[in-house]
Amino acid sequence: MISAATTFVQEPSRSRVVFGSGAISSLPGELSLLDIQRPLVISTPGQSELANRIAAVIGSSVQDVYPHARMHVPVAVADAAVEFARERGIDGCVSVGGGSSVGLAKMIGLNLGLPIVAVPTTYAGSEMTSVWGLTGDDGKRTGRDAKVLPRTVVYDLQLTTQLPLELTVTSAVNALAHAVEATYAPDFTPMIGLTSQASATALFSGIQEIARNAADLDARAKLSYGSWLAGSCLEATSMSLHHKLCHVLGGSFDLPHAWTHTVLLPYVMSFNVTAGSSAHGRLATAFGGAHPAGDLLELIDRVGYRRSLAHLGMPRAGIDFVVDTVVAAPYANPRAVEADDVLRILEAAYDGADLLSPDKPTSPPETSGGL
Ligand code: NAD
Repeated sequence: MISAATTFVQEPSRSRVVFGSGAISSLPGELSLLDIQRPLVISTPGQSELANRIAAVIGSSVQDVYPHARMHVPVAVADAAVEFARERGIDGCVSVGGGSSVGLAKMIGLNLGLPIVAVPTTYAGSEMTSVWGLTGDDGKRTGRDAKVLPRTVVYDLQLTTQLPLELTVTSAVNALAHAVEATYAPDFTPMIGLTSQASATALFSGIQEIARNAADLDARAKLSYGSWLAGSCLEATSMSLHHKLCHVLGGSFDLPHAWTHTVLLPYVMSFNVTAGSSAHGRLATAFGGAHPAGDLLELIDRVGYRRSLAHLGMPRAGIDFVVDTVVAAPYANPRAVEADDVLRILEAAYDGADLLSPDKPTSPPETSGGL
């Protein structure tokens, strides 16, 4: 609510967004607007066919397709890509795929000062941020630099229809995590309140609808729309405990990014989204229930993707390391976080147990079987 005591600073997003079914046909014009004449198309190995298709849409100006992006951007992968881009004399990157493709384009952008056009095919949200990440022997480092913010983002719903349901749901929960942590961010603004709530609403209902019918293009539209808004929240606000935990877990144990978010988010929400807070009110409205953490866990369970950190392959012996690392680093959080709190959250998520302060009873997941 706005009152005489309200103060905030709001910066508009600096990314141009083209959204819609068939939106990739706009790519030649969008590259011209940025005066990119020798683009490099970047993807993960799994998306190389799509990257070739995008290269064909752009036309003969494409210098090459580089399908070597990897999750969490290992240093060696980044160095090789920067060298390749330098040798080919490119003047811009077109990333095709999820956060891994954008992540590699960002390292080229950062090192060579080149503009990026992002064509996202997951809901991770990296395309809307100026945050880069790089993983070396000493873990994952991140930083912010305006140079790496994609100048144009093209959301084409048709590119998400092949996203397997497992990645669809977990990636959408990854997006939801940005919206959730924005609701209690220290740099929250009224605009972020509207954006995060609209994002959470679209993502929560989009997950239910896509799980009922994987071919539902309207549900895909909701998920892309929600992930765009969530990515905008990620760019505009400071993330808290949940993102810190996922960052340390992903970088230290090479855990799958979207899955890590999906396992952890309900547990962190049950700690951070306290009843009576404005974050609780917004998320309760977005999810259509009175218990946001419990409602999310129940949704994840109902659509068949409730797992634990043990399922993801994290060693139990790593829990203490994560507690120490997360407690040692300063970051914003709506509640003070002690080592014991982090330990309880991690142990519960490790076992896939019920929520810490259950605002709704849930049953534990099956413990056998992999992902
Ligand atoms: P990803 O990009 O690695 O994609 C996961 C897998 O899905 C890949 O094998 C990819 O080939 C495949 N895939 C992608 N789109 C597909 C489609 N439409 N159909 C079928 N398969 C498809 O994973 P992600 O979860 O999108 O991104 C995770 C990475 O992004 C992590 O490294 C994370 O740290 C980073 N990230 C960064 C930011 C940021 O702001 N810097 C934000 C979010 C995520």
